[in-house]
Amino acid sequence: MKKPVDAHCHLCFKYFKGEEDEVVERSRKKVLRVYDCGATPGTARRTLELAERFEGFVFSTIGLHPPRAPRMQQSVIDDVVRIIREHADRIAAIGEIGLDYHYVKEPGERRRMREVFERFLKLAEELDKPVVIHARDAEEHALEVLEDYDVVAMFHCYDGPAELARRIADAGHYVSLSTIHVIRGPKDERTRELLETVPLEAALTETDSPYLSPVRGERNEPRNVWRVIELLARVKGVPVGEVVETTARNALEFYDL
Ligand SMILES: [Zn+2]
Repeated sequence: MKKPVDAHCHLCFKYFKGEEDEVVERSRKKVLRVYDCGATPGTARRTLELAERFEGFVFSTIGLHPPRAPRMQQSVIDDVVRIIREHADRIAAIGEIGLDYHYVKEPGERRRMREVFERFLKLAEELDKPVVIHARDAEEHALEVLEDYDVVAMFHCYDGPAELARRIADAGHYVSLSTIHVIRGPKDERTRELLETVPLEAALTETDSPYLSPVRGERNEPRNVWRVIELLARVKGVPVGEVVETTARNALEFYDL
């Protein structure tokens, strides 16, 4: 059987430090490729190193974690933009970027967060890159902001309303389903409705490793993307192989690198 893609994870984060070789070796057996996301200047440089070391398996996306954006120094944001520009030919997408109304509540900070979001959207337009969206309690607003830009987006770790997921797909973007749905399980009504609603042609699968582990007390790893695939197949009532093939093809089309 073909292998799935982990469309979003953070192998470049410190939780994996010193264990990257083992994790990649384990992942390779189960996963076609992983899209590793750097979200600070430090992790941006680190993901580029990993993509070089594990060429053809680890691919980089670079952005700035939205909840941190409002309080970040301008020079740090500039630094991330510079890294993206310098390595544009080696990055698959810009992100994660976006809006987080769960963590950021103060109106001034939300405004600042949106400015940073739009700065990266302009950059993505200019460099002709897709974008990885982090939207928490702000999915609809993020979709509205995207309407002003000529970019294709994936809503990473999507956990918003099912009806909005359909609108995201209708707008030509992708909805990325993560191990958070495995944690909730098929009996959870919200999860089931979402997985039923997202068209397979617009679905991506991800682990967001090291976060959102489906196994309590264990660090998440890319191979667990299989758990999302299996859940999606079960809820939709389609063969696992079809879910693997379609979501992997979606990921390659979206990232196109
Ligand atoms: Zn993430």
